[in-house]
Amino acid sequence: MPRIPLIAGNWKMFKTIPETVDFCLRLKDEITALQGKKVDVAVAPPFNSLAAAAQALRGTQVFLAAQDVFWAESGAYTGEVAPRMLKDAGCCMAIVGHSERRQYFHETDESVNRKAAALLKEGLIPIVCVGETLAERKEKLTFRVVERQIRDGLKGLAVNDPLQLVIAYEPVWAIGTGQTATPQQAQEVQAFIRKLLGEVFSPPIARGMRILYGGSVKPDNTAELMAMEDVDGALVGGASLEIKSFGQIIQRA
Ligand code: PEP
Repeated sequence: MPRIPLIAGNWKMFKTIPETVDFCLRLKDEITALQGKKVDVAVAPPFNSLAAAAQALRGTQVFLAAQDVFWAESGAYTGEVAPRMLKDAGCCMAIVGHSERRQYFHETDESVNRKAAALLKEGLIPIVCVGETLAERKEKLTFRVVERQIRDGLKGLAVNDPLQLVIAYEPVWAIGTGQTATPQQAQEVQAFIRKLLGEVFSPPIARGMRILYGGSVKPDNTAELMAMEDVDGALVGGASLEIKSFGQIIQRA
């Protein structure tokens, strides 16, 4: 079965609620213009805008994602949001392990694993981010780092359908820098990730699971990245904030 590409926009800490609603309504028009092209689309606004985004996207196929989650079902965890609450707000996905969360908020492979497990339990799709820093790439540690993130981050997860989970390979040196990985660099690591997924889950699950590339994806480089065998879509930061560039990326996927 061919893998349907997924283009997911990570808005990070941008956009107010009215800006979110405006964007989502415009996105509806972009999706209509796709006229049956097979590409899935997701947006990940900040927590406070999720319910408004869900309302604005009602009646579309656009997936709503959160940018993070906490693993507990409820409790005294000030500032945190549980999987069930995300579902309640209209989400069907959540990003976990984004490099900004690993860097600034002490996210570890263990916490990524707990969050992914909690999302799966609630029937939500984790988008698990992995990727090496520039120093790690220079020291030729890319494969070792990514292997640890995949094996530890996905340990023991109950996945029996490839669409239950998405991986995003996001080399940290490419995020927000304008320095996109070459299609060959992305392919090399993503083929390696798919091989690992075969060992962690099973070869059929690995074949059907979507592996996104993230890191300075723009309309101009989308097609060449997407032409790679193991690049099944993109996690887009900066270029997902403007409907024009996000729409072009979706068109070119
Ligand atoms: C991201 O934050 O996930 C990302 C890929 O950002 P950008 O596209 O801006 O590099």
